[in-house]
Amino acid sequence: MPATPAWPPSSLPRLYVEEQLTAGAAVTLEGPPANYLSAVLRLRTGAQVKLFDDRTGEWLAEIVEAGKKRVSLRLVAKLREREPVPDVWLLFAPIKRGRIDWLVEKATELGAARLVPVVTRRTIVDKLNLERLRAHIVEAAEQCERTALPELAEPQKLAHLLGDWPNRTLFFADEGGGEAMLDAASPGPAAILIGPEGGFTDEERAAIRALPQAKQVSLGPRILRADTAAIAALGLWMAAAGDWSAHARR
Ligand code: SAM
Repeated sequence: MPATPAWPPSSLPRLYVEEQLTAGAAVTLEGPPANYLSAVLRLRTGAQVKLFDDRTGEWLAEIVEAGKKRVSLRLVAKLREREPVPDVWLLFAPIKRGRIDWLVEKATELGAARLVPVVTRRTIVDKLNLERLRAHIVEAAEQCERTALPELAEPQKLAHLLGDWPNRTLFFADEGGGEAMLDAASPGPAAILIGPEGGFTDEERAAIRALPQAKQVSLGPRILRADTAAIAALGLWMAAAGDWSAHARR
């Protein structure tokens, strides 16, 4: 007996839209998303597309008119609610362009709720293009089937962040050693802090350790690049305290 094909087919194109989606609504896409559907994918009237708005969930839409610059769609069914997001923030010192794009893309795929660039003494990158990073976040969410986008915060100075730290466990990744991340990981609210390529200064380390919510963690004996450390720590937290185990049990 051939398996019943999934409905709607998971291969449907999937796009994020800024506007709030409601049942039966008409949606008009312009610019790159319109060009992607009509010129790249060559979709025509009647073709189906998945849309999500980071608020109401994911919807099935049908193309009613496809032009190179503008594509009109109508919402035909709601597919999923906005998913609950594991309450973990990733705090990272800005790193060079290609690597930071990769980092926000992977952190989105892994399920982070909030991404916070943290300016530390040895941070070498002083200007961040948040628009470009947001575009990478949206693309990663479209690809990994998230219905909720991680928030990308404005860059913050480490001292300011520590000075006003909320009731949230701060897993401070220190190449100098600490509790193994997998053992230390506990459910949210949580945050993971990753230093710059040059590492934290001793004063910064002391200030972080002075925070009652801080837990110093190790990611093993080798010195990982900042982007590797960020993804390793987030992956370990997701496996131990995030939504990976729940998904596995289903
Ligand atoms: N300061 C170091 C050096 O230059 O020798 C390297 C810093 S490392 C490239 C960047 C950041 O990744 C560190 O600040 C730390 O947060 C994290 N990191 C790298 N390896 C780690 C490990 N084995 N355990 C915990 N954190 C690590």
